[in-house]
Amino acid sequence: MTRIIAVANQKGGVGKTTTAVNLAACLAEKRKKVLLVDCDPQGNASSGFGIDKSALEQTIYHVLINGADIQEVIRPTEYRVDVLPANIELAGAEVELVTAISRETRLKRALEPVQDRYDYILIDCPPSLGLLTLNSLAAADSVLMPIQCEFYALEGVSQLMNTIDLVRSNLNPQLEIEGVVMTMYDSRTRLAEQVVAEVREAFGDVVYRTMIPRTVRLSEAPSYGQPILYYDKRSKGAEVYQKLAKEVISRGK
Ligand code: ADP
Ligand code: MG
Repeated sequence: MTRIIAVANQKGGVGKTTTAVNLAACLAEKRKKVLLVDCDPQGNASSGFGIDKSALEQTIYHVLINGADIQEVIRPTEYRVDVLPANIELAGAEVELVTAISRETRLKRALEPVQDRYDYILIDCPPSLGLLTLNSLAAADSVLMPIQCEFYALEGVSQLMNTIDLVRSNLNPQLEIEGVVMTMYDSRTRLAEQVVAEVREAFGDVVYRTMIPRTVRLSEAPSYGQPILYYDKRSKGAEVYQKLAKEVISRGK
C-alpha cells in the first residue's frame, strides 16, 4: 500500500523541506520506493536532491496547470528517490488555480497513475495555506508536521489544524495526522525542553520520539545538492533522520 504524506506547516523555516528531503532519502535507503513531490515554488526539495531548478523544462507546474504527463516530469535521482520537481514558475499556479476546474484535487488526480509504484510519496508543502497546500492535503493520506523548538512553536499550528479539519469535511475525510516531529532541537536549553513538553501535551503520542537537533551539517547539505545521508553519513543529522524513517515505517505497520 502506498502512503502519501504531506509535510506541512504554514510557518516558513521550521524544517519542512529538510525533513522531506532527508526522510525521503532515509526511507529509500531502507529499500522503500519513494517519490518526493516538490510543491513549493522555492524548489528547495528539488535542489536538495541535486536537481538544477533553472534548467527544468517541465515541472509540477505543468502537471497541475497544463495537464502534462506526470511520468515525463518525474525525475530519478542518484539517491534512489524519484522527484517531481518545482521551481519559481509554480508561484503562478497559486493564482491560476483559483479559477480552475477541480482546483483542489489536481495533485491527487495527477498522482493516481503513478502512486502504486511507490511505498511512500512525500509532499513538501509551501509555507502558506493556499491552494498548493490544499492540493497536497487533498492528495495525502496523512500530514507530517515539523514543529521548530522555539518560543512561539505552537503559534499558527491551530490554523493548520483548522485547515486539516476543513479538508476532512470537504475534500478528504480520511486525512490523518501521521506525526509531529520536533526540529532544530537544542538539548542545552531549558526552552527546548519546555517547548517539547508543551507540544507533547497538545499532541500526545503522535509526537515522534526522534527529535531533530540543530546541526551545521544539516544546513550545509542542501548547498551540495545532497541529502545528509550522502553528504555526511556519519553525522548526527544522518543518524536522526534514519531513526525518524524507522519510526515512520514502524508506525505504518
Ligand atoms: P521550511 O521548508 O519549513 O521553510 P527548511 O527545511 O528549508 O524549512 O529549513 C529552514 C532553514 O533552516 C534552512 O536553511 C535549513 O538548512 C535550516 N535547517 C533546517 N533544519 C535544520 C537543522 N536541524 N539544523 C540546522 N539547520 C537546519
Ligand atoms: Mg521548504
